[in-house]
Amino acid sequence: MSTSLAERMDQVEHRIQTAVGRAGRTRDQVTLVAVTKKFPAAAICEAYSLGLRVFGENYVQEFAEKHPALSGLADAQFHFIGHLQSNKTRLATELFHAIETVDSEKLARRLNEAGKPLEVMIEVKLSPEGTKAGAAPEELPGLMDAIRACPNLKLTGLMTMPPWNPDPETTRPFFRRLAELARIHQLPKLSMGMSHDLEAAIEEGATHIRVGTALFGPRPKASAQE
Ligand SMILES: *Cc1c(COP(=O)(O)O)cnc(C)c1O
Repeated sequence: MSTSLAERMDQVEHRIQTAVGRAGRTRDQVTLVAVTKKFPAAAICEAYSLGLRVFGENYVQEFAEKHPALSGLADAQFHFIGHLQSNKTRLATELFHAIETVDSEKLARRLNEAGKPLEVMIEVKLSPEGTKAGAAPEELPGLMDAIRACPNLKLTGLMTMPPWNPDPETTRPFFRRLAELARIHQLPKLSMGMSHDLEAAIEEGATHIRVGTALFGPRPKASAQE
């Protein structure tokens, strides 16, 4: 018999509690962002019924298609965690409560122009490998100033996605570096850590962990249809 979402949520919760305890932190300092890309709206509804409230999505169009089925989830929060194309910024501001992946002044200005209050985080690129997305650490002061000049945007933190590695000890130094940058720039939120390395991220100070596979199982290969 396959494992149910409820059982996987228990396992993830146990891992979070263990890491929080080891780090001398409290459970309420860590928000579990359930990453639902490629899964249908029904998976979000089921997770909501089991108590999850914060969801992460990577593709604006995919989420726009699921969104009508989610209108009953009154206090759900949706975070955009993918690469945001400039022609999708307006739709993104309508669908999401927070954009975790702002990495340029141009993107910040476009989000601001949509005219809706929006929480944003800056995606930081800490390694030349991996995705092209993310601002370099030395770009942070300028980008922070630009975001703070946007009246509709509220800058709350930093986000990163290290080059994928199965060994959490390989990604830990990236988490430590992001935490250091957040301290230097006095930003309270840190979105880092995924299914396989959430413990290391929590130990290094994550306030938001983005977990997909450990909650929902392997993602469907073809994009999910309603
Ligand atoms: C898909 C994704 C995740 C979740 O990854 P899992 O390994 O399935 O937990 C987290 N963050 C980002 C940015 C993602 O794209």
